[in-house]
Amino acid sequence: MTLLRLNAVHAGYGAVRALRGVSLQVDQGAVVALLGANGAGKSTTLKCISGMVHPRGGSIEFDGQRLDGLSPHQIVGLGVAHVPEGRKIFKDLTVTQNLRMGAYTRADRKGVARDMDFVFALFPWLRERAAQRGGLLSGGDQQMLAIGRGLMARPRLLLLDEPSLGLAPMIVASLFRVLATINKEQGTALLIVEQNARVALRHATFGYVLRLGEVAVRGPAWQLRDSRQEMLDSYFGVERHIVSPRPCATANASPGSARPASQEREA
Ligand code: ATP
Repeated sequence: MTLLRLNAVHAGYGAVRALRGVSLQVDQGAVVALLGANGAGKSTTLKCISGMVHPRGGSIEFDGQRLDGLSPHQIVGLGVAHVPEGRKIFKDLTVTQNLRMGAYTRADRKGVARDMDFVFALFPWLRERAAQRGGLLSGGDQQMLAIGRGLMARPRLLLLDEPSLGLAPMIVASLFRVLATINKEQGTALLIVEQNARVALRHATFGYVLRLGEVAVRGPAWQLRDSRQEMLDSYFGVERHIVSPRPCATANASPGSARPASQEREA
């Protein structure tokens, strides 16, 4: 069953058109990867869902209810939590206080206490640092805390913006294991924005690739994983250099002659 549906969403910032008719869906309990190069519109898509950016056109439905036009506060209350890029935790608050902030829309004290236990069971090293200020944690622990804070809202859909950014491969692996546990044990659907396509597609069931504010490719994760590397590279903005067998020509060479190797690139 479809939990989230974006239908031809347009959004932007002043004259910048960041999204040009993005349509995508996330089924209940699914893990969906949203991929693409820098500036493709991934973060803007998440911000539109969580109400931080208001779409200029199209519609966003969550569990049959329109989200576009609602406030971030209302959207959290409906069961959508957003873990933004860059681990925006409250650096001066303790770990416990950060987690409580994630539950600010909830009145059920017992449920909040239970979820705090669940988060500490997922991240036992956070329990050990419960009284420590968030800003003193390592980058990996701050990311876990940001995810834990998102979970404290008891979301049915968790939006994760670049959770692996800046983390060592071992930490990334354990982070994705925890995400899989959250998905399985709580049935939380995950929409994960990633530049690390390989990791994201290994854990996702379905994937979308954005390019210049549009969905360029969509399909089951296994299919995207098996796609030709060249095609994926072009969407992820990887620059592959052509090594010229000839000596470098001068920069003002005539049309048709070889350009300096440093300028020879393909998308
Ligand atoms: P990145 O991984 O670099 O964040 P992204 O795929 O998440 O890339 P967005 O951050 O959604 O892309 O940006 C989409 C477009 O909107 C880009 O052209 C970007 O420069 C522009 N943009 C994003 N935020 C703003 C803003 N606050 N003001 C103006 N333009 C913005």
